[in-house]
Amino acid sequence: MNLEHHFASLGEAFSSKTLVQPLLEQRLVEFNQSLASFLSIDIKSTETKRILSGEDTLPLSLSMVYAGHQFGGFSPQLGDGRGVLLGEIRGQDGLLYDLHMKGAGPTPYSRRGDGRAVLRSCIREYLASEAMTALSIPSSRALALYDSREAVYRETPEAGAMLLRVAQGHIRFGHFEYFFYQGKQAQLDQLIDYCLKYYYPECLATESPLESMLIEVVKRTARIMAKWQAVGFQHGVMNTDNFSFTGETIDYGPYGFMEDYEPDWICNHSDHEGRYAFSRQPGVGLWNLNCLMRCFSKHLERDQLVAILQCYEPELQSHYDVLMMGKMGLCSAQDVHVLLPPLLSILASEKMDYTVFFRLLSHLDRSDFSLLLDEVIDRDRLSAWLERYAEARIKNELTWSQVSASMLTVNPKFILRNYLAHDAILAAERGDYLPFRRLLNVLTHPFDEHSESDILAQRAPEWGKSLEVSCSS
Ligand code: AMP
Ligand code: MG
Repeated sequence: MNLEHHFASLGEAFSSKTLVQPLLEQRLVEFNQSLASFLSIDIKSTETKRILSGEDTLPLSLSMVYAGHQFGGFSPQLGDGRGVLLGEIRGQDGLLYDLHMKGAGPTPYSRRGDGRAVLRSCIREYLASEAMTALSIPSSRALALYDSREAVYRETPEAGAMLLRVAQGHIRFGHFEYFFYQGKQAQLDQLIDYCLKYYYPECLATESPLESMLIEVVKRTARIMAKWQAVGFQHGVMNTDNFSFTGETIDYGPYGFMEDYEPDWICNHSDHEGRYAFSRQPGVGLWNLNCLMRCFSKHLERDQLVAILQCYEPELQSHYDVLMMGKMGLCSAQDVHVLLPPLLSILASEKMDYTVFFRLLSHLDRSDFSLLLDEVIDRDRLSAWLERYAEARIKNELTWSQVSASMLTVNPKFILRNYLAHDAILAAERGDYLPFRRLLNVLTHPFDEHSESDILAQRAPEWGKSLEVSCSS
């Protein structure tokens, strides 16, 4: 395996040397073959197996130091409390990717934590990160999952596990906050140069590379927020230490995918105030970017920073419009602006499943709306909306059925419902990974019919609606 160590070369101010500490009777239980091939990793070689499982130590593996605004309050020093960056590896696209082991044991930044992850949370992260990727949402990826016989204590003893994940970068907004608030100007400059060189090289040729890079970060963040909102994904812990400078969804914890449409839904049971409720996510994205921009107040004028932040809203709105035009099969943003708000109001009052609705809308017959009308209580209200919708939709140059076909490529049949993850976890905890694999298979091809797996597209049964997820993982 050709690991490189660019982040390690930044020096001691950025990280601490940390080795992966294998778990008791650790077993490789799942491996992402296509991602491994993309990264030219031979999973079968003994050398790779030993490195990935932590049995062979890598002299340059490290844990990163960063800071972060957590639920609004600033924590001046955080860091990888249970993650180890093994190094970077080049993908077939020529870009570098981080190999990062989560649950690898205590690090200098573990504070009171044990440095471990439980099987439950590794499975949740594996499924979510692969599902997001299949939905074209930039995300860290899952490369390998290890379970073990080691007990890890949360509310009760649970099985310890590790997840080997891959991302373009693990640099967070909180990295910049750490160096800025510590007054470490030289390291802040070093980090800026590092990000320009490895993540935003196209900005180097511009008049103001830092400004160009920050505009791109703002735009990537805006687009990712638009994608989360369009698909119904809620992150749950949008702290600045969980926000990636490369614009990827990272740090899956108590996340959720919207089932019954509820704009003020709060997926994280520990988020008592609803700070990170679904409808607040776009605003939090901007709040986090504002925290990030402060770190450059010695590099750029206030007006320049404000101008950079002003790129956020138009990018978010236009990207969201495009995504919703695709989901609704409409060819104008204006029609989306007129038709979407009343639709969302219907979905909320009917407690309609967001994913099921858009999939059925894709299958809707031009002359018979019963497919959708049979789903609701207030048929007249939905029927009136559908009439207006159909009028707008036929403005499209494509035929009704061509539009249907295109809608089916953007409205997933399968999303990661909490109760399905729960079932897969319970089985895995008994050593049965079949439900996990079955679920992973549909989530990685969420637009295909998989008629043999219809059951995995169904709405949650009553027991599955009240499952709680919180920060403890
Ligand atoms: P999160 O919001 O889950 O990303 O975690 C916030 C911080 O707590 C990060 O710095 C994590 O590395 C750290 N952390 C979370 N769980 C543990 C754990 N079990 N042991 C040590 N540190 C942890
Ligand atoms: Mg985190």
